[in-house]
Amino acid sequence: MIVYLNGRFLPREEAHLSPEDRGFLFADAIYEVVRYGGGHPYRLGEHLERMRDGLTAIRIAADPQFFPPVASRLLAENGLEKDDALVYAQVSRGAAPRYHAFPPEGTPPTIFAFARRTDPAPPAEGGRAILVPDERWGRCDVKSVMLLANVLASQKAREAGAIEAVLVRDGIAWEGTKSNLFARVGRVLRTAPRGPRILPGVTRAATLEAAAALGESIEERPISIEELFSADEVFLASTTLWTYPVVEIDGRRIGDGRPGPLATRLKETLQAEFHGARAGLAT
Ligand code: PLP
Repeated sequence: MIVYLNGRFLPREEAHLSPEDRGFLFADAIYEVVRYGGGHPYRLGEHLERMRDGLTAIRIAADPQFFPPVASRLLAENGLEKDDALVYAQVSRGAAPRYHAFPPEGTPPTIFAFARRTDPAPPAEGGRAILVPDERWGRCDVKSVMLLANVLASQKAREAGAIEAVLVRDGIAWEGTKSNLFARVGRVLRTAPRGPRILPGVTRAATLEAAAALGESIEERPISIEELFSADEVFLASTTLWTYPVVEIDGRRIGDGRPGPLATRLKETLQAEFHGARAGLAT
């Protein structure tokens, strides 16, 4: 596997980071994950915009424009140009002696990136989720690598045989550990509004656009736990999952316990957009 580190493409085994890297010591870094198919990215502009917002929020001086050529070369170097692949990139505040406040002016950020084939799609019959207290920091809109709360919640989900842990704070089901949350309550499609409690998912935005085009009523309003359990349909949205039905939460059936029609239609719509872009039919 060939990876990218600070301007060089090299075998993963030869990519070494300083033990004083602030990403390692302080989780002082942001990351991004972009889906590629046949060498073409899905909604790259939105990912780069989010990366720019994240870098600005945590005051790292780096230009997200490094990403497109690095991603293309990683796909080529790893023989993934024809495949469905994910490109991961991380930017940290660089390596410097350990003091909490920023390192000396001019310390270069550390930029690391790799590409890998997407995992097989999860079972079509939908997945189970569990509710877990949301113990994350107050800026969940920043795609920070400080993911310990997500890691612990995600492990709880795995141990419960669930596909995702839904994070709950103040009686609100905000989002998953690595996905946004949607619920169709009554005749309205609901998802939490943008703000510090959720990551503004690229798939979330695409899902809202697709749902509007299908004529759905949409409300970007927090979903209470009660509303979640009374929903006809619940689904997750993320780069890796597209839209994916949740058929059971904490052992309680959602709707009729089968994947809802909307999640399936939205997934088809998003995938059609992706394949259209690959075929050069859309931007
Ligand atoms: N919410 C969280 C906490 C995430 O980590 C992710 C993706 O990693 C998402 C939502 C979905 O974002 P996207 O659709 O951009 O992949």
